Amino acid sequence: MITTIGFDADDTLWQNEAFFRLSQERFVTLLADYADPDHLMERLTEAEMRNLGHYGFGIKGFVLSMIETALDVTENRVAGSVVRELIDAGQDMLQHPIHLLEGAADAVRALAATHTLILITKGDLLDQERKLAQSGLGEYFDGVDIVSDKTPQTYQNAFSRPGMTPSQSVMVGNSLRSDILPALKAGAHAVHVPHDLTWSYERADTPGNSERFHQITSLADLPELIATL
Ligand SMILES: [Mg+2]
Repeated sequence: MITTIGFDADDTLWQNEAFFRLSQERFVTLLADYADPDHLMERLTEAEMRNLGHYGFGIKGFVLSMIETALDVTENRVAGSVVRELIDAGQDMLQHPIHLLEGAADAVRALAATHTLILITKGDLLDQERKLAQSGLGEYFDGVDIVSDKTPQTYQNAFSRPGMTPSQSVMVGNSLRSDILPALKAGAHAVHVPHDLTWSYERADTPGNSERFHQITSLADLPELIATL
């Protein structure tokens, strides 16, 4: 019997990766004179991975990694106007209106009536707070955890609030690496809702034979699935 549902936010409740892709396209176009698109993307991804431990997840770290890569590939000759455009790209992302994914609002509203809902997300603190406020879904969540990373301990903590236990909790998200595998490890159920655009970092193999692992194509199917757990 499930009492608690954890929701990932980015690319589970609302679009996110699509806006990163647009900024990456701007980055590649701005630096086209210095390197080809594949090489630029490879260097940018390397910088992001290298910097995760310093900056954490989110737009601010992404912008710093774009600027660092621009300096690297131009041997420090990148024009100030290009750096300005990269900063503007980040500012645009931080102000982008929320695009809720299909079925998200209805599922959250319906399940809030019967379950305790916790939002569990990584990323920039202010940006995640802004998006939740603008989504109009904030009032349906009993708890909001904006975390620096998603590990089994993250879910152990999130689902051990008074009256909760991981075995009666389910985590719902688009990332196998961040939402599904660590939640299963913590003893919770997990529902994978794949998104067309998923950052390479978030990919992982589907868990093998876990009875606590489930997959649906849309959040519209979530209330029905939860009722069977
Ligand atoms: Mg996500």
